[in-house]
Amino acid sequence: TQVDREWLQEYVDDWVAFYRKVTVEGNVASYIPELAKADPNHLGISILGKNGTAVRSGDVDQAFTIQSISKVLSFIIACVEKGVGYVLDRVDVEPTGEAFNSIMHLEMKSLNKPFNPFVNAGALTVTSMLNGNTPEEKLAPILELLEKIIGYRPVINEQVFRSEFETSARNRAIGYYLLETGFLESDLELTLDTYFRQCSIEITVDDLAKIGLILANDGEDPNNEEEIIPRQVARITKALMLTCGMYDASGKFATYVGIPAKSGVSGGILALAPPRVRNTQFPFIEGCGIGVFGPALEERGNSIAGIKLLKHIASQWDLSIF
Ligand code: GLU
Repeated sequence: TQVDREWLQEYVDDWVAFYRKVTVEGNVASYIPELAKADPNHLGISILGKNGTAVRSGDVDQAFTIQSISKVLSFIIACVEKGVGYVLDRVDVEPTGEAFNSIMHLEMKSLNKPFNPFVNAGALTVTSMLNGNTPEEKLAPILELLEKIIGYRPVINEQVFRSEFETSARNRAIGYYLLETGFLESDLELTLDTYFRQCSIEITVDDLAKIGLILANDGEDPNNEEEIIPRQVARITKALMLTCGMYDASGKFATYVGIPAKSGVSGGILALAPPRVRNTQFPFIEGCGIGVFGPALEERGNSIAGIKLLKHIASQWDLSIF
């Protein structure tokens, strides 16, 4: 039988309170100085079901920068603008088992292209493919897609953008390598500027849950069946999230949680449960979108409490896609 709304809220509140204690075991990202100002105790989750049921708990109103989760959006837009074949000819779909900003695999000897769109080498390549001659032009379709999904035009956090821009030695190193090997399709400065801005888009867990809901339903808005993201692109994006979305902990996340997810160093996680997941007790979780925020990170760069909270919920509600 279906549980009532109040019970559900209390249930999620209890687990957020429980996992909030875990935040002390993590650390906020500090390599982008502005991110070090985040409150490590924050933890929030938003779950949005197909039928409109929303369960929100913890620090749900705290805005944060999207960081690596933006790689999902730039990949989607590049596929829409250039075609899936074009993008995948230039960026592979294989996990690296290395950190997101690793330069270990930059020589790309075996594959001759960056490993996947979610490591920085692949993400910079994807951003360089976006149409436009200015950061504003390149970012416009990403912001339009977001606006369509979340219902307002998000802002770019200028402090975080500046902070990353000024401390970007590693991403510049990757960028110069891509330039030298002929992968960049735009000027390097334009690519870096656009990439740092896309990472600095401000969102909330509710926004992530809305993006998750669209992806969960193969790119369609379940409320009106409008196609927001082409089905094939949504499917590939979810496969990439599952295999490469949680940095070098992606294998563990797939094994122990078992749902597509993408995290960012500011502590956000975009996750979803495919509609094929059946649950008579909690029907709203069939095809739901999930947004999590918890800036204290584990050593791989994922929200430490966020991962544990997701793992708990996924196992309780049997969300695994396997
Ligand atoms: N802007 C960050 C970087 O490229 C994003 C990293 C992340 O969230 O993984 O360093």
